[in-house]
Amino acid sequence: GKRAFIAGIADDNGYGWAIAKSLAAAGAEILVGTWVPALNIFETSLRRGKFDESRVLPDGSLMEITKVYPLDAVFDNLEDVPEDIKTNKRYAGSSKWTVQFLKLKRFVGAGIGGQIAFLTSPWNIVCLEVAESVKQDFGSIDILVHSLANGPEVSKPLLETSRKGYLAALSASSYSYVSLLKHFIPIMNPGMFLHSIIQQCGSSLSLTYIASERIIPGYGGGMSSAKAALESDTRVMAFEAGRKHRIRVNTISAGPLGSRAAKAIGF
Ligand code: NAD
Repeated sequence: GKRAFIAGIADDNGYGWAIAKSLAAAGAEILVGTWVPALNIFETSLRRGKFDESRVLPDGSLMEITKVYPLDAVFDNLEDVPEDIKTNKRYAGSSKWTVQFLKLKRFVGAGIGGQIAFLTSPWNIVCLEVAESVKQDFGSIDILVHSLANGPEVSKPLLETSRKGYLAALSASSYSYVSLLKHFIPIMNPGMFLHSIIQQCGSSLSLTYIASERIIPGYGGGMSSAKAALESDTRVMAFEAGRKHRIRVNTISAGPLGSRAAKAIGF
């Protein structure tokens, strides 16, 4: 079976959860990356059976999540993490939450981390660390899903958005995909040539929104810009990762869903 890492699940209402279920129903093993501030409540709810109804798969069995990794996708390596976050108690308990992890002890862009039950170091949640952590635990993955976004000023029109808010939206919602993919590529199973077509290749996916191409009032704070960047980056990364690593890169422009993120912006 295939192994999938889905970044951006913190409850059972969002796209990440739904994608995880579809992959699980198709026989994939599910690994999850959860934003550090939401990690505790997600793991507790999972353990206490709060999501059991939503875990039911078409064959009646329950979706199993093999492991949950703490992640903060805005940090590539440990040096990027500001002091106030390092000392924040919601982060202090987690390990391996950058995308990079371990190898260089640096954070990468999508803080992911070690299993919360086996805390080792407090700084394993950045992008690089998460990828390294998954490598240590499982060796490789076949599918990477990026289902996360954040725009601190999303409720402000673009013309009222600060530079800081705009760049934060791009960092969490666009570069986080570049960073995640970049750090996961080395552990993604590449495809092979069969009848001159690449088959069975590793695959990555993110979620975008129509506000990148059309004006959707209310989708502000640079989030429309962030989705436009995500779409352009998808084309470029598909070219680069396809040629060099035989890995597919796609994004799906999803319709409106009453997720936590969508409700937070009043959609
Ligand atoms: P969601 O709230 O279920 O998922 C967003 C996740 O991002 C949350 O789990 C949150 O904890 C996580 N996150 C935020 N900042 C993070 C960070 N720095 N590091 C790691 N994780 C972080 O909401 P959703 O609507 O399912 O969003 C998933 C994706 O779907 C997003 O890319 C969103 O833009 C996209 N999308 C949503 C809609 C919609 O209507 N809900 C429509 C089109 C696209």
